[in-house]
Amino acid sequence: MRIVRFQAGGEARYGVVEDDIVREIAGDVFGRFRGTRKKHPLKRIRFLPPTEPTKIVGVGLNYRDHVAELGFEPRDEPVICIKPGTAVLPHGGKILYPKVSNRVDYEAELAIVIGRYAKDVPSKKAARVILGYTCFNDVTARDLQRKDGQWTRAKSFDTFAPVGPWIETALDPQNAPIRAYLNGEIRQNSNTAHCIFDVPTIVSFITGVMPLFPGDIISTGTPSGVGPMKSGDTIEIEIGGIGRLRNTVMRQP
Ligand code: MG
Repeated sequence: MRIVRFQAGGEARYGVVEDDIVREIAGDVFGRFRGTRKKHPLKRIRFLPPTEPTKIVGVGLNYRDHVAELGFEPRDEPVICIKPGTAVLPHGGKILYPKVSNRVDYEAELAIVIGRYAKDVPSKKAARVILGYTCFNDVTARDLQRKDGQWTRAKSFDTFAPVGPWIETALDPQNAPIRAYLNGEIRQNSNTAHCIFDVPTIVSFITGVMPLFPGDIISTGTPSGVGPMKSGDTIEIEIGGIGRLRNTVMRQP
């Protein structure tokens, strides 16, 4: 099932994608909900970020080839960082290039969407707290990341968390092709099977540190091939079984 959040009549609504139609749902997307009779053509909806996360937890260095491209050694446990929920950007939105940076990179990532309160979740029970999966672009000001020696500023600007277009609830997260296209040219091309730490391990590790709430996002790391974007570029993150998240880049006015 594909769950989409969109704007209609000045309000945020949730719906389920059925081919080229979005059927509005009633109830709580994180609890019980049912389809209504209200339908919208998929082509006409204005996408919103699929959730409003209290935080986004990013996993760094989770693909062997990306670790090698950065010249690092693989870790024996996940390395995590926080991106604020305020950075979310929907499918179709514009990534704003901050004035203080001269190098802003795309990072194609599979995102986990949390479905219920989660703390100290054993890996065997991780599936119970997951609502589904979506495409994520862990936009990073690479020059500021290098300069600061840590990641918070580099990853926290408004619009630095493109996410969507929707949440896919039926996906095998351990075997999904993941790609990035810059202006239609393929730049990252891998499979989530190459992750060092799998989804249950990541959920267990993070919820051993902090509670996760419904709608929170975990971004599971990027494969090799990261690179810079410039104003006017179109960047697309595609995950097999989910779809394609498309955004454009614009200098901050
Ligand atoms: Mg990343």
